[in-house]
Amino acid sequence: MDNYIVSARKYRPSTFQSVVGQKALTTTLKNAIQSNKLAHAYLFCGPRGVGKTSCARIFAKTINCLNPSADGEACNECESCLAFNEQRSYNIHELDAASNNSVEDIRSLIDQVRIPPAIGKYKVFIIDEVHMLSPAAFNAFLKTLEEPPHHAIFILATTEKQKVLPTIISRCQVYDFSRITVADMVEHLEYVASQEGVNAEPEALNVIAQKADGSMRDALSIFDQVVSFAKGHITYQAVINNLNVLDYEYYFRLTDNILNGKIRAALLTLNEILSNGFEGQNIITGLASHFRNLLVCKDESTLILFEVGTSIREKYKEMAKRCSDSFLFKALELANMCDLNYRNSHNKRLLLELTLIQMCQLNSPDNTDDNKKKELIKPLAAGEKLQNQSSQPTQAQPITNTQTTSRFTSAVPPQATIVSETQQQERTPLKQSRPHASLSIKGVSKEQTKQDGSNTPEVQQQEDIINDFTQDELLNFWNEYIPLIDEKKAFLRNIMISCKPELKENYLFDVGVQNPEQQDDLSSSCIDILQYLRTHLKNNHIQMSTHLIETEEGHLPFTASEKYNYLLQINPMLEKLKDEFNLSFDR
Ligand SMILES: [Zn+2]
Repeated sequence: MDNYIVSARKYRPSTFQSVVGQKALTTTLKNAIQSNKLAHAYLFCGPRGVGKTSCARIFAKTINCLNPSADGEACNECESCLAFNEQRSYNIHELDAASNNSVEDIRSLIDQVRIPPAIGKYKVFIIDEVHMLSPAAFNAFLKTLEEPPHHAIFILATTEKQKVLPTIISRCQVYDFSRITVADMVEHLEYVASQEGVNAEPEALNVIAQKADGSMRDALSIFDQVVSFAKGHITYQAVINNLNVLDYEYYFRLTDNILNGKIRAALLTLNEILSNGFEGQNIITGLASHFRNLLVCKDESTLILFEVGTSIREKYKEMAKRCSDSFLFKALELANMCDLNYRNSHNKRLLLELTLIQMCQLNSPDNTDDNKKKELIKPLAAGEKLQNQSSQPTQAQPITNTQTTSRFTSAVPPQATIVSETQQQERTPLKQSRPHASLSIKGVSKEQTKQDGSNTPEVQQQEDIINDFTQDELLNFWNEYIPLIDEKKAFLRNIMISCKPELKENYLFDVGVQNPEQQDDLSSSCIDILQYLRTHLKNNHIQMSTHLIETEEGHLPFTASEKYNYLLQINPMLEKLKDEFNLSFDR
């Protein structure tokens, strides 16, 4: 193993032709060389491991080649090419700006620029991670970049184009390197494997390519890692075990459970995955990708978006036949909501389970006949439990008809009137006033609803009722609404008690709040509040706005974390207490 060379180095491309996954770009470069239209400075941008430095080196070699081929490639045989390939050419200078970013580093490079090349035509200066240069170094460099000698060509490379000064960018020809596709990567890995005499299952290489996420260098490093333990035979199973990748079989099993409405089986599968040590959020995003792949598989025209090997593709096609489009849309939406809410959830496992349960119910007959009933969560045998959990910070879980009515009447009896105008059968209870949940309810025409939770939602009533009212009447119903707010939303109660509406023109009222949190809370509940006021004041044009009041004593601690920090200043021991008992707080 003395002369072992890692694959990323060993299979570094030596011609434009062999650069993986950057066809358009390498063709442009070759054309420029052929037509002898060389710029003095190039900027290569793109993620790491996609071939920026390799292309820069090939470019340097090619423009110095004494015998370039007809299609603009280096011959790899002349003295200059050999010097390049053996890394002893004096015509190429590389500076890694990540570690050499001082003015002195740039000055010594500029000294080199003046000296013309001994053999070949051009001296090429490659500055890697050019955005890391210090401002002083940038300035020192700028002058040279403005008026370089004829024999000097600069190739600047960066992973963060937005950090490069515009004055630099404007002096360069900019080339944007793209992430390498899974298919291109698999193809190259197959080539490397065949060269190394390694037997590899296509699915295994596919997993490696996906894991590398667009970087060929990473893919080759992972490949080396896998080769070293797989002993010449890379199997799919070995790769997923070694790389800690979730086996797609699990997703097929979960989808099968979901399609068949087997809630318990789905929960057991989830349990199995979790007990294998996988993180919940990865599971749900993986499941979302799986649904997306199924969707993509349903149509020949979108099949190109599907980056997996052929054997598994058949499996996907087969399963896709069992899924309706609407099922996949809804399942994707549920998975996406779960993903969004995951970080804030206090019971992450329950959130996952709820999502799976909802997915399992997507295909049941009650849900398919009428899209009004979509996303409803039906009672399980032990449905009562679920009812309580619906106030989890998941997407607000609508409840079935029977539950809605019973909850509703017991909690807020007078509110029956809110619904009365519109007679929609199922609605979210007033208390669960998450903006997106409440939007699709009660008198809000479904097509016109905006889901942005803005302060003044465009709510169109079916009837146009405009009744004048006074500030006192407004205040009266504002106060009347407060006791109807769910106990769990005590914060909203407090806001509505401490901040009062002030009637402005055109039925707009404004509420002054003390901090942005209050503003957010009020905004996210504004639809319910407005609905109540519009009904009771008999005016569909009422709108609400909020504004922050500047208090003289400054910002008062309001959220739990603010209060905690405030108390911490008074008594630093609090932190120890918090750590000791592993305490956390919610808003
Ligand atoms: Zn040559």
